[in-house]
Amino acid sequence: MTTESHYELIAIGGGSGGLAVAQRAAEYGARAAVIEPARLGGTCVNAGCVPKKVLWHAAHLVEGARAASGYGIELPPARVDWGEMRRRRDAYISRLNGIYARNLERRGVTYIDGYAVFEDPRTLRVGERLYTADHIVVATGGRPKLPLIPGARLGLNSDDFFALDARPERVAVVGSGYIAVELAGLLNAFGSRVEQLLRQDTVLRDFDVLVQTALMREMGASGVAFLTTTVPASLERGADGIVLNAEDGRRLGPYDAVFWAIGREPATTGLQLERAGLATDASGFLRTDAYQRTPVAGIHAIGDVTGRAALTPVAIAAGRRLADRLFGGLPARRLDYECVPTVVFSHPPVGTVGLTEAQARARHDTVEVKRTAFVPMYYALTERRQRCEMKLVLAGDKRRVVGCHIVGDGADEMLQGFAVAVRMRATLEDFQDTVAIHPTNAEEMVTMR
Ligand code: NAP
Repeated sequence: MTTESHYELIAIGGGSGGLAVAQRAAEYGARAAVIEPARLGGTCVNAGCVPKKVLWHAAHLVEGARAASGYGIELPPARVDWGEMRRRRDAYISRLNGIYARNLERRGVTYIDGYAVFEDPRTLRVGERLYTADHIVVATGGRPKLPLIPGARLGLNSDDFFALDARPERVAVVGSGYIAVELAGLLNAFGSRVEQLLRQDTVLRDFDVLVQTALMREMGASGVAFLTTTVPASLERGADGIVLNAEDGRRLGPYDAVFWAIGREPATTGLQLERAGLATDASGFLRTDAYQRTPVAGIHAIGDVTGRAALTPVAIAAGRRLADRLFGGLPARRLDYECVPTVVFSHPPVGTVGLTEAQARARHDTVEVKRTAFVPMYYALTERRQRCEMKLVLAGDKRRVVGCHIVGDGADEMLQGFAVAVRMRATLEDFQDTVAIHPTNAEEMVTMR
């Protein structure tokens, strides 16, 4: 065993968080390294945001082809070559992997290809080599959860979805969160028969109630069948596909594919955290303080492994701020986890920032709500009339906008700007004083009365 090198900072994990912290540290002149056994870019690039968004765009082309006749444009029905689509998507991701490697090189960050385990609080072992660091940042991300029921392995997860060579025809998507509604929406748009199984009675239970009801209505209208209060008890392979037995005795299916989208768990097993004096919480997360510090001096954690907002830009922001604090002479720098905007790439998309109405009512004495629902102009000529809904949650006498919730086309692009306004503590008056852009869906945000 040899001690290879000493670094000022080593990031364990070459995903969004690890790359961000190491690169920012290197920009300050710190000697930094990233240890990653798989392809650079982590979940986001390889099995998350990026391939999902490519498919989301592809699904929009298919939906656009369906809508065209409403405009007097006759197109043949879209024929999707799933294999070709996958090849093109994967080629794009490989290009990104290369760009990430070159970015590390350009900034002088060492890329160590391998699996890191702790030897002690300052030392990591990768294969037969030892690396020491002043600061170690655990940024190992997470992986899809599997339920502990018989036959669970007959089901697939989101990683498997991206590796599919062909589109399954009869599909069950189990779950109610981001991944479940995104997967169900994609497969439905491409023509699969999709049943989405919810343990409770709604999707996205942490979101504002407007988001839940509007999204379920629009997904339902476009063909997704929701099976509410359905708890899977087992999966079995039948003569004609996979059968899902529910706890209440129903036999559902047969399906060509069952997808588990029931949450993700932190990737902390195998790191030998105990040798560093670190412990995870009961769910396996590495808990950190407001400065991303673990209880062990010199060891920090960022991103999905910490159990806070599992979003790429959050991991990046936390990583960069950590490097600013450690090497940039900015001792107070840290990520404020309040008011993080988020988008669900469902069909239609959801954009949300700030408090839900229920959260606002629990926190503020005076709460008012403005809402609107309309059919966007795009659908004025089409057979399908997909609606858009918006809600502003206002607090206090000044009617400050503390929450902004959108379901409908354009929500994904619209939200970023409104998130700035909410963060700057804009009031309803500020919104209403802003001249509308016409004709857009976004103008409804500034014309609510
Ligand atoms: P999630 O958003 O946490 O949702 C999983 C949901 O599945 C739970 O909230 C729960 O909802 C349900 N569930 C849990 N156990 C279940 C079980 N045994 N059977 C049936 N349902 C069960 O998890 P996710 O969709 O896997 O996504 C993980 C995280 O990745 C997200 O929270 C998000 O932070 C991130 N992500 C972000 C994006 C994006 O930014 N667009 C996209 C994908 C993922 P109920 O309690 O209501 O049943």
